[in-house]
Amino acid sequence: MKAGAVIPGQKDSARIIEMAVPVTQPGEALIRILKVGIDGTDMEINQGHYGKAPPGQDFLVLGHEALGQVEKTFGPDLNEGDLVAPLVRRPDGCINCRSGQYDMCIEGNYRECGISGSHGFLREHLTEEPRYLVKVPKNLREVAVLAEPMSIVTKGVDQAIEFHRHSANPVQVALVLGAGSLGLLATAFLRLQGVNTYSLDIVPRSSLKGQLVESIGATYLDGREQRIDELWRQLGNLDLIVEATGNSTVAFQAMAALGVNGVLCLMGVSTGENRLEICADCINLEMVLGNKIVFGTVSSNRAHFERAIQLLGEAERRWPGWLARLITRRLSLADFEVSLQNVPDGIKTVIEIS
Ligand code: BGC
Ligand code: ZN
Repeated sequence: MKAGAVIPGQKDSARIIEMAVPVTQPGEALIRILKVGIDGTDMEINQGHYGKAPPGQDFLVLGHEALGQVEKTFGPDLNEGDLVAPLVRRPDGCINCRSGQYDMCIEGNYRECGISGSHGFLREHLTEEPRYLVKVPKNLREVAVLAEPMSIVTKGVDQAIEFHRHSANPVQVALVLGAGSLGLLATAFLRLQGVNTYSLDIVPRSSLKGQLVESIGATYLDGREQRIDELWRQLGNLDLIVEATGNSTVAFQAMAALGVNGVLCLMGVSTGENRLEICADCINLEMVLGNKIVFGTVSSNRAHFERAIQLLGEAERRWPGWLARLITRRLSLADFEVSLQNVPDGIKTVIEIS
């Protein structure tokens, strides 16, 4: 079978390779991969900045956002024809991993399919245990490839809201930085919870990103026209900020933009060595006097995937067709190398495998 792979650490090494169809082990299901989403992490791996091959191998099959269909199964949990989204992380033996919270791994010996230590889903077939496969309703077939990014969003934003869930003044105003797929899914999540949401990017308001933001009742802000740390003057107390650009300068500006009792959720991975001069005293003082919280969030577990699928369903019912508009480029596996090149104003690239 064909697969899309890279040599980790080697820039622009993305190639289509030939691989043996995997043999199902007892307890596993055979999955035919239908669609794979490409994200910034895949591009960083192809830039040689990130990623690790499975032990003893020099290549890594990419792809950690996928939708597949069960072709053969040997257990009671799944049926042939079921649609499934595979989880990304595989646990090590730490206490969190053993309890199913492998996104909160303590020892760091987890593997991530398509990222670190295990092959990903950019291939025609996959064999997997049902505990790493989450069922997807048939009506979400066109958009469930977004389950993985939505699972990242649900983990981060649910936690952020939870901090003040019991306060008299829960999250009312949120700002999402970046209107890529994570940012847009975060905006949709917040709008589903009824939060007054602003979403900022550096393209015109008339762009697809701007239109997608405004069509679900959020307000688009053009980041080229305003300073992030000054936004509170115009928007009032920012209770929640979601950083989804992966730009570390933006992450620090967001700290300065945070309102009283505000929570900043950082979900963008930055792999460079960007240095910044900041007023550490000012930020420290503001954080303390304002009861502010800054936290990072990475990966997700089964519960987050299940919630993500439920939320994709809600979004689809509330704004039919909106999620599908996030998929701005559909390619075939033969176009794998092209899929790793950014296109201006593009949001999500999906490779259709079968
Ligand atoms: C993936 C996560 C992963 C993270 C760090 C992200 O792109 O969505 O599942 O934990 O990269 O490797
Ligand atoms: Zn662990």
